[in-house]
Amino acid sequence: MKPVAFDYVRARSLEEALAALADGGEDAKPLAGGQSLVPALNLRLVRPSLLVDLNRAGLDAVARDGELVLGATVRQAALADDPDVHPLVRAALPFVGHPGTRSRGTVGGSLAHADGAAELPVCLLALGGSVDVAGPNGTRSIAADELFVTHYTTTLAPGELVIRSRWPLPRADERAAFEELALRSGDYALSMVAVVLRLDEGGVVAEARVVVGAVSDRPTRLSEVEALVVGARPAEVATEAAAAASSLVDPPDGLHASGRYLRSLTGTLVARALRRAA
Ligand code: FAD
Repeated sequence: MKPVAFDYVRARSLEEALAALADGGEDAKPLAGGQSLVPALNLRLVRPSLLVDLNRAGLDAVARDGELVLGATVRQAALADDPDVHPLVRAALPFVGHPGTRSRGTVGGSLAHADGAAELPVCLLALGGSVDVAGPNGTRSIAADELFVTHYTTTLAPGELVIRSRWPLPRADERAAFEELALRSGDYALSMVAVVLRLDEGGVVAEARVVVGAVSDRPTRLSEVEALVVGARPAEVATEAAAAASSLVDPPDGLHASGRYLRSLTGTLVARALRRAA
């Protein structure tokens, strides 16, 4: 199929993009890499009357000020080469679609799209990152813990745009691991796990963030698993953490796997991630 007719504006600045979105009202949608929006347009799952193209709006800067600051339209593929990109993100990146989709898809688009099975939202939550958004009421920052609501839904207000994402830099006392299983390379995940641990000199976990994706409607921290891991050596509690994780997620039966299998898979991935992080 082809999209229903829509008007198109190529914004030359953030101000132009925000003004066009304000003029277009709730039927206007920002266009970034188009790797999710265009298929949805073609399937007529979305029928915006106006597309506001962000690709020339000057939102592709990369900066470092104690953290890595990525403009919204930085391409996913660009993360592979940046030395300041956290090892967790580097580990997850090959699972984000395909090389072709990553060359067009943007970091901001993936975060704003908020697919429950997307890797970058899981990584941003696991790292405790945030996004800067701009809209009719100015700019504000939203922590990843407060950003994702449910499938394709964030706490962005109408007319707001993600303009930057903020990613903590790697720390010497930190260990991180990303695990995912998909039916085929490039497919969306059946389940994924991101683990970020801060260890003391003795290798005991002082802080833990354990996040799962694709097994609920949004990236989800498993705080009970985190509590279990803190104060222990990761590999020593991996089996117990796996059992806890399996009991904490409740994915429905899917096209490719039963909920029971997905619960067990998630536990296995949590154990693997803890052992790999250790
Ligand atoms: P677009 O498609 O342009 O937009 C997506 C949505 O976000 C739209 O609603 C748009 O209005 C909104 N939006 C875009 N930018 C902003 C912004 N700055 N502020 C506010 N709203 C904004 N992704 C994965 O994570 N894992 C996968 O395994 C995966 N597999 C894929 C396989 C295929 C074959 C394809 C085509 C895509 C796949 N994707 C996957 C999706 C891909 O990563 C998209 O790039 C991403 O989901 C959206 O980024 P985008 O820049 O393409 O955004």
